[in-house]
Amino acid sequence: MGSRKVTSSESSDWQGKHVTVAGLGVSGIPAAKVLHGLGARVTVVNDGDDARAREQAAGLEELGVTVRLGDGATLPEGTELIVTAPGWKPDKPLFVAAAAAGVPVWGDVELAWRLRGPDAAPWLAVTGTNGKTTTVQMLASILKAAGLRTAAVGNIGVSLLDAVLGDEEYDVLAVELSSYQLHWAPSLRAHSAAVLNLAPDHLDWHGSMEAYAADKGRIYEGNRVACVYNAADKATEDLVREADVEEGCRAIGFTLGTPGPSQLGVVEGILVDRAFVENRQKNAQELAEVSDVTPPAPHNIANALAAAALARAFGVPAGAVRDGLRAFTPDAHRIAHVADVDGVAYVDDSKATNTHAAQASLAAYESIVWIAGGLAKGATFDELVAQSAKRLRGVVLIGADRALIREALTRHAPEVPVVDLDRTDTGAMLAAVQEARRLATAGDTVLLAPACASMDMFANYNKRGDAFAEAVRELGAGA
Ligand code: ADP
Repeated sequence: MGSRKVTSSESSDWQGKHVTVAGLGVSGIPAAKVLHGLGARVTVVNDGDDARAREQAAGLEELGVTVRLGDGATLPEGTELIVTAPGWKPDKPLFVAAAAAGVPVWGDVELAWRLRGPDAAPWLAVTGTNGKTTTVQMLASILKAAGLRTAAVGNIGVSLLDAVLGDEEYDVLAVELSSYQLHWAPSLRAHSAAVLNLAPDHLDWHGSMEAYAADKGRIYEGNRVACVYNAADKATEDLVREADVEEGCRAIGFTLGTPGPSQLGVVEGILVDRAFVENRQKNAQELAEVSDVTPPAPHNIANALAAAALARAFGVPAGAVRDGLRAFTPDAHRIAHVADVDGVAYVDDSKATNTHAAQASLAAYESIVWIAGGLAKGATFDELVAQSAKRLRGVVLIGADRALIREALTRHAPEVPVVDLDRTDTGAMLAAVQEARRLATAGDTVLLAPACASMDMFANYNKRGDAFAEAVRELGAGA
């Protein structure tokens, strides 16, 4: 990283500048190194002061960076700019002090945006409550199929700083952005961008649904070619309307139904484009078949349409959309088919960590034994249960907040048998899968879509999904 030649005018901008980096960690350490390399006087501040932080601090101090552990609240004297880790809440005293002193605050994305070179690759950007990672990966796959040099970057593994400053040359970047990152990226201007959907999440951080939506909506600011919205989610279309975009930039909708002009949609099992075609009043272009998308669940077709819209906005031909979608395989624990046992399918969607995601998952199957529960993060389950009740053959509840789901089931699905597993030990998942098997009959799907975070029982959602898959294998072996 850091090997792109920074022009002398760029580095003179940074020479001797007092920059405070807020937060040691995945974004803070690389940011501190890059800024130090540009000649800035860097101070890193961090709330924590544990052994790991000290070790990280020692590494930076060796380079000449100042590190202040155990106090992320006080603004270091002389600070001209703060570069913050995206997760730091905007109401922290550090930012209150910065606002009072007129000191700007950038996130890691803003820093990458400002440091990219004059001929840098344009960004195709994606945000939304759910489906970001999947959509960005589909987009990268489509762009690659079109012969473009690209990568899926951002809130997804490869950092934007690495992508922008590294040796690798790109024609275009597929960028996943979280609401936090967007909050701290005031001058970002994407080529085109999509907001996939908008449901309450992270409201404790943003303060309100309005503030959350406004931060998501920043992704459309200054778009040059297309603002892609979800025609089934009016809030996303409203954000396009409110955005200040470049002259000629178009609003492009995606829909699971028949597309209108300037939309992408689905007609008789075919993904079609009625936006990037000649004479869109009359013409439509076939892009791919629904069966080219893995898994072909409705929400995932929506993700594919959003990815296709961004790729088409960039001028990618229809054939590359099909090839790219065919080449795409989803990351683990996202509606992953684990096995069939006795005619029952076992599906791992451990990544469904909120109710909006779980709802999409439940909508993809007809007759379900649902394994749910964990940490609710303040969510309510009435709408989810009411909308899914008719598909539920049975429910197995696990985890700390399972009573909340049980109460919603009592209210909206009183007929559905529920097994409430009062245990949070590591063997609980095997017990849950055994109970699910008892409730299921041939043709059903046992679906792990917890609608909750996993940390009450597991290190993360990956481990939860692994435990499920392991339990299904045991079941299969004993069958
Ligand atoms: P993100 O990066 O936004 O967390 P992922 O692509 O990792 O999204 O998918 C997370 C989970 O959200 C999936 O396991 C699936 O249950 C659900 N999901 C994916 N796409 C959508 C969508 N378009 N609408 C609703 N839920 C979705």
